[in-house]
Amino acid sequence: MLFKNFFCVLGICSVAFFTASCSQKSIVTTAQPVALTQAQLQPIVIQGALPVESEKMASYLSNVEIETVGGWKFWKGTYKGYPVIISKTRMGMSNSAAATAIAIEKYQPIAIINQGTSGGHDPKLQVFDIVLGKESTNIGAFRTPKKPLGGGSNALTWTEAFDVLPDDEQDPEPIAIRKFTADQTLLKAAQEISSKYTKGKVVEGTIGSADVWNNELDRIKFFHQTYGTSVEEMEAASVAQIAAQYKVPFLGIRIVSNNITNNGAYNPATGEACQEYVLDVVEHYMKAQQASLK
Ligand code: SAH
Repeated sequence: MLFKNFFCVLGICSVAFFTASCSQKSIVTTAQPVALTQAQLQPIVIQGALPVESEKMASYLSNVEIETVGGWKFWKGTYKGYPVIISKTRMGMSNSAAATAIAIEKYQPIAIINQGTSGGHDPKLQVFDIVLGKESTNIGAFRTPKKPLGGGSNALTWTEAFDVLPDDEQDPEPIAIRKFTADQTLLKAAQEISSKYTKGKVVEGTIGSADVWNNELDRIKFFHQTYGTSVEEMEAASVAQIAAQYKVPFLGIRIVSNNITNNGAYNPATGEACQEYVLDVVEHYMKAQQASLK
């Protein structure tokens, strides 16, 4: 009996054998070897906030099934044979956090890539350049200085970052800039195929995220100098925060779609360019993951 159960666990029993020997109900309809089931890759989740940041990738998937959970859309399918889920998170920190938690709970992904457009904080970055987020950080959480009624408000004096994921949960006002580090294997995969991208350069940097679109050059300079931000957008650090708590490997990849530090005008074609590059990263990463299973 023990011996028979061992084969059932391995999944090499036929339906007849399965139903006869295992106590639970069988849902397999044809006798077939399923020994590889345990060794199959889990899907990778690729996120984009908006249709222009997700639908191109979804159009490249095969065997697509669309699932909508709450307000969040997921395209489940395969890309070059690898299991991939495209997730349209919608904009901002809350939407992207929710979409991430749902994706992790529902699909148990091998990894998550958050990608899309962004605004340059580094004057050396041109529209179409891509930033691989070796770090992502929240640039919307602060403790402001105390000022009396009538004392006004000046965001340039907000120098204390509020850490929303403190190590010490008893600390009522944790003051620190928290940075989420990219998964090194994902980052390496992205670097290794960077020469395939020809529309701009690919650099490593820090992605700053908040539910804010900054258009004040002094404020942008503050973030660039104090937080070391290369670009800003509205999702990556939030996704990184959720992925970190679930211990799921994460990487943010952002294309510069606008850069007011060097008059780089917004170009909507950047959304598709980033998706094309990210699919190359995914293929390269999944190939290595598949090889490591053998
Ligand atoms: N389609 C436009 C505007 C999108 S609105 C564009 O791509 O530039 C905001 C969305 O774009 C957010 O999901 C955010 O992640 C991203 N984004 C692009 N540039 C940004 C900037 N300068 N500041 C903040 N978010 C930016």
